[in-house]
Amino acid sequence: MARIGIVAIQGDYQAHAKGLERLGLGCTFVRRPPDIDGTQGIILPGGESTTHLKIMKEEGLFDALKEFAGRGGALFGTCAGAILLARDVRGPRQESLGLLDISILRNGYGRQLASDVHTGPTKLRNEPLEMVFIRAPIIESIGEKVEVLAEDGGHPVLVRQANILASTFHPELTADPFVHQYFLNMLAQR
Ligand code: GLN
Repeated sequence: MARIGIVAIQGDYQAHAKGLERLGLGCTFVRRPPDIDGTQGIILPGGESTTHLKIMKEEGLFDALKEFAGRGGALFGTCAGAILLARDVRGPRQESLGLLDISILRNGYGRQLASDVHTGPTKLRNEPLEMVFIRAPIIESIGEKVEVLAEDGGHPVLVRQANILASTFHPELTADPFVHQYFLNMLAQR
């Protein structure tokens, strides 16, 4: 069975741990580079991407995660996690891992529409997905190798590029384990 790590610096990493629990999986909390050892997939949770970035750099996790992806490890970023994975970040500009060929705008829905729950279609199954948006970013453009798995309001909200998966919403905050299961299937295929 795959071993999944969850970056546990700040934000809603506990909700991801519960999401994996529902699927019968334990997890490793990743705070320093050695915590990555033995994991095949790593989740970058929602929270504040600026804080994540700062601490990831201080702890050496920033480079370690890049190496992990380079060795074929799978990464799944939700909301702030998607911002960290992106090639290009705006609103304001900030450094990122650059592992996913998307351009993303932080807090893209503005402060008024801080949080919202939508239900929308996904390419992955017939049943719609419940999507919880919290100060969510907007994916403004995607590269050729990026597959859009779900859209909302004309923007991609769930995307995949090879071993990298990202959502601008929070699948860990709904009772539906579907997106986490999809990530596990991605690992099983690799
Ligand atoms: N607004 C946050 C950021 O820019 C992301 C919010 C979230 O992860 N729910 O980092």
